[in-house]
Amino acid sequence: MSAGKLSPDDLKALIRTVPDFPKPGIQFRDITTLIGHGEGLPATINLLSERAEAAGAQKIAGMEARGFIFGAAVAANLGVGFVPVRKPGKLPVETIGVDYALEYGTDRLEMDPSSISQGETVVMVDDLIATGGTALAAAKLLRSAGAALQHAVFVIDLPDLGGAAKLRADGLSVDILMEFEGE
Ligand code: AMP
Repeated sequence: MSAGKLSPDDLKALIRTVPDFPKPGIQFRDITTLIGHGEGLPATINLLSERAEAAGAQKIAGMEARGFIFGAAVAANLGVGFVPVRKPGKLPVETIGVDYALEYGTDRLEMDPSSISQGETVVMVDDLIATGGTALAAAKLLRSAGAALQHAVFVIDLPDLGGAAKLRADGLSVDILMEFEGE
């Protein structure tokens, strides 16, 4: 099989599902088996890149940590820069940040505001959208840095959790490669 010939359904078959991780009731959709596959990885990157290119990406933003794997590869594929949206305390310069609610407690994302020019078309890339909390927070942060952010691309959507619908309600168009039922 060549990379170009793997369909999203073929790629879905390369995702490993681990039940009850990290806690009972969660079906963990593990991309380790997808990115460890010599044809699956480039096919995934090519499909994500097509969508990001169609959205006019001038820069790709990805969320730590799995968004770095896909986002940086898409950026390199398109010949545009990559913006890491980081967990707190990792960047060595003055950052801007956003706090967001988790099921228990809060979390925070940070970025270097100088990594985006005002009005630059940024496309957000991540591995999976579940509740959408992380992606909504990242979108707020990127917009506050001046990004023209209208598009987000994910490998996996868990539609039962409603994250993609929330992003669409926030004015983003959302592309995904595959869906899994449940949480
Ligand atoms: P959320 O903020 O709820 O949309 O979840 C964001 C992140 O949590 C995703 O980018 C995934 O990395 C991770 N995640 C959430 N649910 C799952 C799941 N069922 N399987 C694998 N990763 C998950």
